[in-house]
Amino acid sequence: MNSFVFLGAPGAGKGTLAKVLTGMFNIPHISTGDIFRYHLKEKTELGLEAEEYIKNGQLVPDSLTCDMVRARLAEDDCRNGFILDGFPRTVNQADELTAMLNEQNKTLSAVILLEAPEEVIVRRLSGRRVCTGCGATYNLYGKMPLHDHRCDQCGGEVVQRDDDKEETVRKRLMVYEEKTKPLISYYKEKNMLIEMENLDDPKDVAKRLVDILAK
Ligand code: AMP
Repeated sequence: MNSFVFLGAPGAGKGTLAKVLTGMFNIPHISTGDIFRYHLKEKTELGLEAEEYIKNGQLVPDSLTCDMVRARLAEDDCRNGFILDGFPRTVNQADELTAMLNEQNKTLSAVILLEAPEEVIVRRLSGRRVCTGCGATYNLYGKMPLHDHRCDQCGGEVVQRDDDKEETVRKRLMVYEEKTKPLISYYKEKNMLIEMENLDDPKDVAKRLVDILAK
């Protein structure tokens, strides 16, 4: 089973790298942030419950988040593996993840910590633009759509995420420091952590990671 958790601050490049690896391993990329954004857009019950937390850069309560992940991992496409991007984000979620994997007879191959200097993170987040249609990401300081604010892939509108605005970004980084960083020692102690600097082209980083995993 190829099953990975991507750990790292917002803007560390988890989503971008996950998109490369999902194709290489043919396993689903499960981004809890993307799933929540889907529920927000569709105004589902879960979306309405999660909305205020997300808008304020806070974590959605563990119970809601864990139920959502448990159901997603039980889906058929997760049989041979998965990439969890943005989950777990608290020690309690990590304990819950262990429990749900046990329930479902699944194991975790590795936890990959992606690191980048703070100035790179702030630049990535403040420059990030996303397609409201298909979720493709662009960046003011990198690749932007060929036609003004229209996604190259689906023609959807390309906008800044509300929670990528400066004040919310600062809050999200504080929440990461306080609630998520303890997971680094948590997984280190379990000998599951692979630490990687994520500054190069995502395809090169993915290749480096595959080499490490092969060892
Ligand atoms: P992301 O796209 O991963 O940065 O997530 C966007 C937002 O969704 C976060 O700022 C949280 O409000 C919420 N969220 C995503 N994943 C989780 C999680 N594992 N636990 C709680 N809230 C989450």
